[in-house]
Amino acid sequence: MQCPRCATTLHLAHDLQGNMPFTYWRCATDDGHFIAFLEFLKEKNFIHRLTPDQIQELRQNVQFVNCSSCEPPSTWNPTPPAPTATRQFPCST
Ligand SMILES: [Zn+2]
Repeated sequence: MQCPRCATTLHLAHDLQGNMPFTYWRCATDDGHFIAFLEFLKEKNFIHRLTPDQIQELRQNVQFVNCSSCEPPSTWNPTPPAPTATRQFPCST
């Protein structure tokens, strides 16, 4: 991938927002950078890792997660939940 301003090759860069790693492509002459939408969301802290307390809260309140468009169901716990405990979330990609 080339920089649209100086035509040099963009290099993959790795960075952190808090404890969330994200990647982007940057120009060696600092003309700017290219970042994919999901990585942008990580960079701006719209997506972040859950804390252990948040994970525990999810385990207590949500036992079963379905992607409404592409993923098979995932369980938080080894025992399957009652059908009324099933919730669906759309895939973020
Ligand atoms: Zn450039």
